[in-house]
Amino acid sequence: VLKFGGTSVGSSKNISKVIKIVKTESASENIVVVVSAVGGITDKLLIAADKAIRKDHSYKEDFEALRLKHIEVIDGLLSGEVHEATTDIVLEHLSRLEKLLDGVYLINELSPKTTDKLLSFGELISSLIIYEAIKSKGVNVQLKNSQNLIVTDSNFTNAAVNFEETNANITTYFESNQKMVTILPGFISKSENDEITTLGRGGSDYTAAILAAALNASVLQIWTDVSGMFTTNPKMVKHAKPIAKLSYLEAIELSHFGAKVLYPPTVQPVLRKDIPLLIKNTLAPEDPGTLITKISENGSQSPIKGISNINNVSLLTLQGNGMVGIPGFSKRLFETLAHSKINVIIITQASSEHSICIGVSDADALSAKSVIDKEFENEISLHKIDPLIIEPNLSIVAVVGDKMKSHQGISGKMFSTLGKNNVNIRAIAQ
Ligand code: ASP
Ligand code: MG
Repeated sequence: VLKFGGTSVGSSKNISKVIKIVKTESASENIVVVVSAVGGITDKLLIAADKAIRKDHSYKEDFEALRLKHIEVIDGLLSGEVHEATTDIVLEHLSRLEKLLDGVYLINELSPKTTDKLLSFGELISSLIIYEAIKSKGVNVQLKNSQNLIVTDSNFTNAAVNFEETNANITTYFESNQKMVTILPGFISKSENDEITTLGRGGSDYTAAILAAALNASVLQIWTDVSGMFTTNPKMVKHAKPIAKLSYLEAIELSHFGAKVLYPPTVQPVLRKDIPLLIKNTLAPEDPGTLITKISENGSQSPIKGISNINNVSLLTLQGNGMVGIPGFSKRLFETLAHSKINVIIITQASSEHSICIGVSDADALSAKSVIDKEFENEISLHKIDPLIIEPNLSIVAVVGDKMKSHQGISGKMFSTLGKNNVNIRAIAQ
């Protein structure tokens, strides 16, 4: 199963690269190809819709830009009769999309259900164009709408998959429909009541992982615009380089702390089946990329696989003598945050039990303070604990590697390096 992201299918030039890769990969075995919307289209749809809700008539200009973008891609890939027929179908889709936007403008309201209808056009159109382009190159290819395979609940914009039905649909379909290449749109699905749903932002990876797991694929290849997962952020560190091999856990740690190549929840289905993941670069297909498997074969590599970071983190400290020896404080703390849907990035507690520190995104810090101070109102007024302390604008740095745990001296080296460079450490977790 190969998944191509937005940039990979962002222009006719890049789609031509995709077609080359598809031809090479399908020479030895049948493949399934999942595609994102043309690069940037999902965001543009959301922007246009947002303008329409606010009665900003310039949503028409955004729509026009979006229409032109698709026409440009078709013009760059197809010619003759196929060009004409495909343009017609795409224009039909687009005119339905435009009507939907007009509707949003008229009633100045956008429900999650309508959002999904709107967003679904991105992948529907991209998959059609790419299918036609591959077919015109003489490849034995079929197009299948994932909406007829992937069944979800009705939690619009972030629907949960019904795996029993979905897996059955996938196996049944592929048992009787074998082609060298099957193209499917990522991200989009249908609810049990036959309504259009989507799997959440970045959902195309999820579609690909669901298909790979259901079909017991030999590998899930994620084709993106970088040559794999890097030892550290290449935008910040010049000598960062792609990592040849990682374990699932290492990849999840690295992506949690910054490397945007992989969003762990989306690849869960393949992890459960031990299907290897290969991150590849559409713009540089000869680069080896990063292979992610259950166990990393370390060889002579360092026990440290990478260093990643998250910026704009606030450290929240809840402290007070009234916490010592009394169970239930952390339960209330985390419950309060969970109710407000605030994500906790790091947790540490000193053994004195006098304080507990958590890291949240800067954007969440103030609302975290208000709900936590409210929850502990009583204890605060009795001076058992202090009002929550916020220290904003920090960064989390994570050193990642499965094999670090059996090597001594790594944390020592890290702390002395930070110390020598006057970097103050506020909290630690291992
Ligand atoms: N087009 C969707 C998004 O941008 C899905 C995806 O590309 O994975 O979130
Ligand atoms: Mg995307």
